[in-house]
Amino acid sequence: MAEYAQWRLQTNQPAVGTVLQQLLGNDDQMGALPAAFGPFTGVFNPLGPQLDHTVVIKCAPNTFTRLTAGANTVGWFDSEFPYMPNLMGAEHPCNPNVAATTYLTGYSRTPNAGNAPLGPSHVIALCGDVLGQAMFRRNTIGTDWSQRRWEGQSFDILAQYLTPTLLHEGMHVAGRSAEMYEWSNIVTSNRNDDKQANSDSYAILASGV
Ligand SMILES: [Zn+2]
Repeated sequence: MAEYAQWRLQTNQPAVGTVLQQLLGNDDQMGALPAAFGPFTGVFNPLGPQLDHTVVIKCAPNTFTRLTAGANTVGWFDSEFPYMPNLMGAEHPCNPNVAATTYLTGYSRTPNAGNAPLGPSHVIALCGDVLGQAMFRRNTIGTDWSQRRWEGQSFDILAQYLTPTLLHEGMHVAGRSAEMYEWSNIVTSNRNDDKQANSDSYAILASGV
């Protein structure tokens, strides 16, 4: 996505509209984006012996285990990943305000990273307990999307679809950590650096443009 955005800004043919700049800033720093993405260091090769690029996706996970201090809940962990750093806080990782969440497994995708065993580095949890969470996003765009007229539709309707949610969580795996949600909120920010660190900016851009 970042490489596409960089190419799109450089060629600018046809001229990039305002939406890209609203979502990712207007400071012409797009060339720096691919290098800033963190662990991706080469051609993706899922069969490579040295790297494990697997990202685990859990649908409606039920493996979160409570951490307590006395009577209080102080955090959570996924019992299938015994080396993961605990998720701190009393709120369940899939509480009703969370559609999906991404966390570290404690495994390393490259060998010799400290003592971490080799394995998938992240889990994307698609929550599925209450309406509004990712597993209930079952709207389909259909196969005629590229011929349809989209004038008058808000980019914010993309939040109803699972695809942008997966892209959003995938951008967290790629190191984009900021959390501004939906075009109508992102557009109110004048901080280019915030926009370029923001998962939803890329997910909306890739899904809607
Ligand atoms: Zn997020």
